[in-house]
Amino acid sequence: MRRMLIVGAGQSGLQLALGLQTHGYDVTLMSNRTADEIRTGRVMSTQCMFRTALQHERDLEINFWEEQAPRIQGLGVSVAGPVTPLGHPRLVDWLGRLNGYAQSVDQRLKMAGWMEAFERRGGRLVVHGAAVSDLNFLAERYDLVLVAAGKGELGSLFMRDAARSPYTTPQRALAVAYVHGLAPRLEHPDIEAVRCNLVPGVGELYIMPALTTSGRADILFWEAIPGGPADVFQGVTDPSEHLALTLELMEWFTPWEYGRATRVELTDAGGTLSGRYTPTVRDPVGRLPGGGLVLGVADVVVTNDPLTGQGSNSAAKCAASYLASIVEHGDRPFDEAWMRRAFQRFWAMARHVTKWTNAMLAPPPEHIVRLLGAAGQLPAVAHRFVNGFDDPADFENYFYEPDKTAAFLEEAEAGATGNPEAPEALGTGPADDPADDPAEETAGEAAGQVG
Ligand SMILES: Cc1cc2nc3c(=O)[nH]c(=O)nc-3n(C[C@H](O)[C@H](O)[C@H](O)COP(=O)(O)OP(=O)(O)OC[C@H]3O[C@@H](n4cnc5c(N)ncnc54)[C@H](O)[C@@H]3O)c2cc1C
Repeated sequence: MRRMLIVGAGQSGLQLALGLQTHGYDVTLMSNRTADEIRTGRVMSTQCMFRTALQHERDLEINFWEEQAPRIQGLGVSVAGPVTPLGHPRLVDWLGRLNGYAQSVDQRLKMAGWMEAFERRGGRLVVHGAAVSDLNFLAERYDLVLVAAGKGELGSLFMRDAARSPYTTPQRALAVAYVHGLAPRLEHPDIEAVRCNLVPGVGELYIMPALTTSGRADILFWEAIPGGPADVFQGVTDPSEHLALTLELMEWFTPWEYGRATRVELTDAGGTLSGRYTPTVRDPVGRLPGGGLVLGVADVVVTNDPLTGQGSNSAAKCAASYLASIVEHGDRPFDEAWMRRAFQRFWAMARHVTKWTNAMLAPPPEHIVRLLGAAGQLPAVAHRFVNGFDDPADFENYFYEPDKTAAFLEEAEAGATGNPEAPEALGTGPADDPADDPAEETAGEAAGQVG
């Protein structure tokens, strides 16, 4: 039986461990925390996962929370306009329907549950924060060592790939608060949706329904441009202060969302998170001091800012892709050439995520401002854009180059006038303060970082 060592019990490490188990591999999993420590600890993410990634979990029959977690049917975008004496008006506001629902299951719940399932199914769980010296010692004893330790220190085993990493500093400061008591959005009270509020020059506020340890919750997530007016969470350790700051920013910059948040309270003492990190792509093969090789998984090798909500999705896709590469390789040795091929197969998908996310971190060019504005009038545009969260490769077809965007918008306009059956969007009606040309007003800067 082939012996596999996986370091890191997150989305990718656990999914891969559970997947390898079903194929009869002898799997050891190292985690720096117990299941209970994870379950009762601090939130780690907002972890919204879309159709393809959720399907990977279903395929392994580890979608344990699918029935309880809210089904996110839509994704909406709002854009704030320049400040007035009353705060920021809303220039753009629309909602597009997802082809398959998305879900966010608090990683505390999921990782703790998956760790317990892994052990129940006969897996060997070692609770120990692995150091390079441990891996050096252990590498010879396993057929393959996979490092799935997220943004932890073991990442230093893998060289930064400068050509694929345009940023050298964090692009957003992240601040997450899990709450109970958020009222539904008045524009679509019966539809669960992720709401993305863009505030030029300030950052983005994401709001999404989730399942947490105390049941259904909503997540308020500021992605602040570093040094900007929403970058105020550094050094804040008191969860109540964190929530108060979150709400204060909402009241001023996104009053249409604040209106439904006046009665919220934190889900629990671990329900807040703040920090920042630099988006980075690394070489997938790590070389240990003793000469052994280890393969990097998911965030270890491709870290994106959570602005586009892709990290858990990519981690699930990476685990599924590596699982297929491992199983297909049979009894042959997992040498460097195989490791590079396995990563290349994942990167064929992941490169689209990185390209799109890095593009979204920069101030939007004119054609993207036009695209986001047009989605308010053209359901086909909203529909296509929001489904790109599940398959970011589609952005190649219309997002990056102004000519392609113009052609797509022309096609969508023709469809809207000529075809009453055009894809239905979940229109949210006119924005609060329709501008003559919302596109002109909304260019500004998009924003920032997480941690
Ligand atoms: C604020 C925020 C919001 C986010 N929102 C979303 C979203 O909405 N949608 C989305 O898809 N993604 C989102 N992400 C990203 C997503 O959470 C990550 O990309 C994803 O969890 C990465 O999975 P992973 O398996 O690579 O690593 P992780 O999930 O980070 O797991 C790594 C595990 O390894 C453990 N570990 C670290 N070092 C060691 C060691 N030396 N020994 C043993 N164990 C170790 C860690 O404790 C952790 O349990 C968000 C991230 C953040 C920070």
